[in-house]
Amino acid sequence: MDKPQLKDHRQIGQELDLFSFHDVAPGAVFWHSKGWIIYKVLQNFLIERLAKEGYQEISTPVMVKSELFKKSGHWDFYSENMFNLTVEKESYSLKPMNCPEASLIFSTKIRSYQDLPLRFSEFGVLHRNELSGVLGGLFRVRQFAIDDAHHFIRPDQIQDEIHRLIVLVIEFYKSLGFKPEFYLSTKPDKAMGDPKLWEEAEKDLEEALKKAKVKYGTKEKDGAFYGPKIDIHIKDSQKRDWQLATIQLDFQIPEKMGLSYIDSDGKEKRPVIVHRAILGSLERFIGILTEHYQGAFPVWLSPVQVAIIPISEKHVEHSKKVLEELSRNGVRGEIYDKNGTMQLKIREATLQKVPYLVIIGDREIENSKVSVRTRDGQNLESEMLSDFIKRVKESIDKKI
Ligand SMILES: [Zn+2]
Repeated sequence: MDKPQLKDHRQIGQELDLFSFHDVAPGAVFWHSKGWIIYKVLQNFLIERLAKEGYQEISTPVMVKSELFKKSGHWDFYSENMFNLTVEKESYSLKPMNCPEASLIFSTKIRSYQDLPLRFSEFGVLHRNELSGVLGGLFRVRQFAIDDAHHFIRPDQIQDEIHRLIVLVIEFYKSLGFKPEFYLSTKPDKAMGDPKLWEEAEKDLEEALKKAKVKYGTKEKDGAFYGPKIDIHIKDSQKRDWQLATIQLDFQIPEKMGLSYIDSDGKEKRPVIVHRAILGSLERFIGILTEHYQGAFPVWLSPVQVAIIPISEKHVEHSKKVLEELSRNGVRGEIYDKNGTMQLKIREATLQKVPYLVIIGDREIENSKVSVRTRDGQNLESEMLSDFIKRVKESIDKKI
């Protein structure tokens, strides 16, 4: 049997009405309503999970004076990738990362050693200047958001904090059906900062990986010049390897931004920053998921979870009631009431990869039941609408 032809996420995005790109904004996504549902559902899932981990969500400006990036040290090695503009004779930049501004929020108060770790999460809109020639769908964009966070911690908290993060990453990916792989990147030749701090930090990262009982590889000398890191990869349904997330220690930004906390001995000390993302760029991650599932998203992520198919026009009224009932229960439905035979409507909903199709005819109205089909063409027994809704809600809760 021939393997079905795999589609590119751009093609799927167009067929399922998820997003589009336009010449007026190269590398920036126009999210259509259905694509934005996927985006928000993923984002909310993260937010709910992070709240349990003691994160505080923050939001900082997209456009700030370039002097901030000069102070943070980004300007020297990153200004070519930044969008800079002049406003009232002053140089401004669109932020390419959130860290300097998160650091500013940290510095608005005197922090004690007891306040740490402080965990700020942020879905800030970032801009990075990729050449228009290398832009490619959701995989390479100029404007995007990372599920970003910055942890401000004491050096003695590194091991514990990283261990917690590894566990969180494993759990999160597990709920999405992926098994993350970890790589420890060690000190590069051009590293900055105290060699002893580097050595201890690398040991802490290694211990944290061992404690989490995960297998990991090593990327020798692949750490950033400002600190060692752990890279997180996944494999998709086509066995392609993706590096998505990073857990990065940073000894430099606290220095450059003059961050401090009061230690138990009453002295001012420098915190360490952990930059971390779990999914990485949400745009890119949704591109990967779109190809991974080939548009057949699991129920909880599907923009439309139930297609309601009235057999003929006289069943439309009742279909509307079914839709209302679904909405009331937090299930996303859509009525397929355009002209055409029932077969045509079923075909259309199947091509749209809607997980459940419910058929509404005379018999269903009489018995207050629905006849359910899946997008794979499986006919399920007809059941009470309330039972069906309960089942769909269970799938949503279990993230399947
Ligand atoms: Zn950062």
